[in-house]
Amino acid sequence: MIICDTHCDTLYMRALQPNETPCVTMENMVKGGMSLQTCTLFAGSKGMSDHPHDKALAEYAAFERLAEHEGWQKVDSPLEAEEGKVKILLSVEGGEIFEGSVERVHEFHQRGIRMAALTWNNENEIAYPAKGGTENGIKPQGWEILKAMASLKMAADTSHLNEAGFWDLIDRHSQPPMASHSCAAKLRPHFRNLTDDQIRAMAKRGGWIGVNFYPNFLTESGRAAVEDIVHHIDHMCQLGAEKHVGFGSDFDGIEYTPVDCQSPADIPAILDALRARGYSAQAIEDIAGRNFLNYYRRLGW
Ligand SMILES: [Zn+2]
Repeated sequence: MIICDTHCDTLYMRALQPNETPCVTMENMVKGGMSLQTCTLFAGSKGMSDHPHDKALAEYAAFERLAEHEGWQKVDSPLEAEEGKVKILLSVEGGEIFEGSVERVHEFHQRGIRMAALTWNNENEIAYPAKGGTENGIKPQGWEILKAMASLKMAADTSHLNEAGFWDLIDRHSQPPMASHSCAAKLRPHFRNLTDDQIRAMAKRGGWIGVNFYPNFLTESGRAAVEDIVHHIDHMCQLGAEKHVGFGSDFDGIEYTPVDCQSPADIPAILDALRARGYSAQAIEDIAGRNFLNYYRRLGW
């Protein structure tokens, strides 16, 4: 079975948090049977003013070291994912990395970036974050960046984006958008989670959602287990997103994990829990990875 995950902050940890120990390691990915682990280049928490482009380059250099010394292999196309082999898909998180420049989009595309979260929690040249609650949509300069992304078949990631920006993408972007690491607001009201209307729209538009494993996005109590991840997946399936949902762990970017899902090695426990809920082998393969690859097929890959 092909298993994909659409968000982890391991490269940021490797490059800029040398005292932390990442859980996304080759050993854990092999144990969990991962096929395609998305690793993001994160802009950092301070937004446009704090050299996001330099940070992204430092994280890319961390990837190159992993490639050289630990056999990490990035894909050019997400469709290179295959069963029994771990490969890496690169993304960016925080569109300020592009510095408002179409050339930068091309530059990162050349490095293998195939997905870009338009914002993190700060306003940038493209759009506004969910955190803060402004009602402004995508900026004119943002549409220039989005046009360049679409021409390169680079996925527009709405995780962290505000609602107005989300609906702009649903209504006006030439490609279906995605949310690489977001949960269901119906089950856990939080500005980072998606409303039922957003989830339905994502399915209808041909988009994709990776459910985040961060306990604080999964439950009110902030304690979570595999069952809670499955609860959010199941809720999205019931809204018609069974062909549009999968995993967006956020490993190495979250302060703590569900008790029984602490690294990619534990992903099979989610598949077991889906099975126990009565999900068919087909449906589980969809959620594990096929939905994500089909999303990229819709982008033209
Ligand atoms: Zn994030």
